[in-house]
Amino acid sequence: MADPEVEHRCGMIAVLGRPNVGKSTLVNSLVGEHLSIVSPKPQTTRHRILGVVQREHAQLLLVDTPGLHRARGRGALNRVLNRTAQQAVEGIDAILVMVDATRITEEDRDVVALIAASDAPAVLAVNKVDKIKRKDALLPVLRMLGELAPWRAVVPVSVTRGTNVAELEAELTRLLPVAPPAYPADQFTDRSTNFLIAERVREQAMMLLQAEVPYGVTVEVERTEEEGKRLIVHASIVVERDSQKGIVIGNGGEMLKRIGTRARKSLIALLGRPIHLQLWVKVRDGWSADERALQQLGYDDR
Ligand code: GDP
Ligand code: MG
Repeated sequence: MADPEVEHRCGMIAVLGRPNVGKSTLVNSLVGEHLSIVSPKPQTTRHRILGVVQREHAQLLLVDTPGLHRARGRGALNRVLNRTAQQAVEGIDAILVMVDATRITEEDRDVVALIAASDAPAVLAVNKVDKIKRKDALLPVLRMLGELAPWRAVVPVSVTRGTNVAELEAELTRLLPVAPPAYPADQFTDRSTNFLIAERVREQAMMLLQAEVPYGVTVEVERTEEEGKRLIVHASIVVERDSQKGIVIGNGGEMLKRIGTRARKSLIALLGRPIHLQLWVKVRDGWSADERALQQLGYDDR
């Protein structure tokens, strides 16, 4: 039982930053579940995902967002990603901005400008400090960033090493209102199991496919069937062009088999039961240029 003398805090925290700074890695680390998929490729996170951090005296509701980036070039998909990230700022109690200590860019300044326009208190996490060899080189960077906005705290962290992550969590918890838990103690996301299954399959596809293809890939779970202890999952990898279909399938089906084998392992870890994964590849012409198709696939939650 929680100590009745200590007040319980609960609130929503938007996690913002340009792609690839480590937002999803942090959300997963705090939630304690592999919730948001992570890869070295930018634009891995396409959806707004709620991660519920369960603590004795607090429940932190972290909204992991696709990175904010300048909407040039890539068309409809980018516009939807930015809109999703901006929507995440509304109705929240605090903002966490994350940057990569080794590379501060114009896009980072855009994110800071967005938070400056918001009323919510904000904390800055300067991530990947493990990559900085000379620690004294970090000080001027922290000072410069500190002056950009009225931060409640500026915390250098390494999420992958676990450095200062607890301190960051403490700073965020302080900003939340006193309130009872919003989610049951065993719930770690607002997303459905089918959504999490589709994301696990997409994660493996993004890891294994080279160059152009990952940005054109999405995954749909068509249906699942219970078969005793086993869950049978029927899913499709959806690509934009016939040429991509060939790449996803690979020579003699070799690539699809590799994606399927890895995704199945990942699904066993997620669901804790035997899985039979039936994977197909489908072509949906030019889907990333068509916002209507994006909506049908659940990439836009208006
Ligand atoms: P997001 O796009 O901001 O969600 O970034 P991700 O969480 O997907 O991470 C992007 C890449 O940065 C992944 O390859 C992570 O493993 C890596 N990464 C995340 N945190 C750290 C860190 O503290 N140190 C280092 N060296 N790499 C990190
Ligand atoms: Mg991410």
